[in-house]
Amino acid sequence: MNTPALLAVDDALGQLLTLAERAPLDAVETLGLADAEGRVLAGDVVAIVDAPAWSNSAMDGYAFNLVDAIGFPLPVSQTVFAGQAGEPLAPGTCARIFTGAPIPQGANCVQMQENCTVLEDGRIAVQGTLREGANIRQQGSETAVGQLLLGKGTVLSPIALGVLACQGIYRVSVVRSLKVALLSTGNELVGEGEVPAPGQIHDSNRVVLQSLLQRMGCDVIDLGKVNDELALIRAALERAGNADLIISSGGVSVGDADCIGSLLREAGEVLMWKLAIKPGKPFTFAHFNGVPFIGLPGNPGSSLVTFLMLARPYILRRMGRTRVEQMRLPVVCGFDWPRAGRRQEYLRVSIEQGRAVLQPNQSSGTLLSATWADGLLEVPVGTTFKAGDSLDFIPFASLLA
Ligand code: AMP
Ligand code: MG
Repeated sequence: MNTPALLAVDDALGQLLTLAERAPLDAVETLGLADAEGRVLAGDVVAIVDAPAWSNSAMDGYAFNLVDAIGFPLPVSQTVFAGQAGEPLAPGTCARIFTGAPIPQGANCVQMQENCTVLEDGRIAVQGTLREGANIRQQGSETAVGQLLLGKGTVLSPIALGVLACQGIYRVSVVRSLKVALLSTGNELVGEGEVPAPGQIHDSNRVVLQSLLQRMGCDVIDLGKVNDELALIRAALERAGNADLIISSGGVSVGDADCIGSLLREAGEVLMWKLAIKPGKPFTFAHFNGVPFIGLPGNPGSSLVTFLMLARPYILRRMGRTRVEQMRLPVVCGFDWPRAGRRQEYLRVSIEQGRAVLQPNQSSGTLLSATWADGLLEVPVGTTFKAGDSLDFIPFASLLA
């Protein structure tokens, strides 16, 4: 029997992003900065004021005009603190000035106080070279009115929020949150407050996925844990309401109990199933009653990797985010990989002294080794390597942001 070729990870991702672009979230909401972290800008933000808004001192020191420099020592005619406007500088004098204070009109140089001496009569002598514009942050040198600051589709990091605040922009339009209905399937699963009977295990996937989704700014509708029975799964999905996306874990292989697969093949439209990815081959994408449906494999390692590599970029693109590619950094491998694989493999590695170190348990069934890892080493199909070779590493830190 011919086994159909597995879908390559890059092809799957390309298709997922196209699907996401066809189902954008149009609605926008306006939020205060304190609530906007992690959300996606619904439109471009253009500078409405220059930054700095006026030329100001980069140092504590003395401001003067270079034409008066030959006259040093100079008397001090005024003191300007940050937050004050100051007076035009009287010719032949200098101004005591502090960091962030506006440069008095007529001054064109600041000498830092470490290079200045206050004489007994109060006049100021300077040491060191003097140059026009020294220690002055010129008006508009960082940002000029009209400049594009943050493009539509940018995720609002704490730093981006600061850029908005610099402009006096305290409310911002963001794309609404994606509503994600989340369920885990498996007769063997129990949750909080339940005692596992022999053969049962605690449902860890839903905990991981809920937390990842919340970090990404999604609204999670928790459909709970459902036994492997079509009728029960259908009933749970009724509670998905107006979800923009359904995510399940478990039940997408070809075993008898794999009812998510059966349900989607029977009542849905399966667009993607069986990928050349390890761990996570049974990853499934379908439409169910018109709602996009991602079926993640049940093995905790598989569920984690396929969520991060495939579901996450899809979700981010649905939410309008422009940049969804994972951050890849070349790292030197600290181990040999002699056997070429037929699936693109994601190895859980830590980075020690600049080298990727393979964590001992790479089983798809384990979650724990991912907690020892700093991220995933991407091993393309058919690749072997030796210690000292370089491969792409995807830091967890970039995937959890
Ligand atoms: P499945 O994909 O349903 O065939 O499950 C594959 C393996 O993952 C089995 O050993 C399941 O017990 C385990 N598993 C499935 N769902 C979960 C879950 N939510 N949390 C932890 N392990 C799970
Ligand atoms: Mg199962």
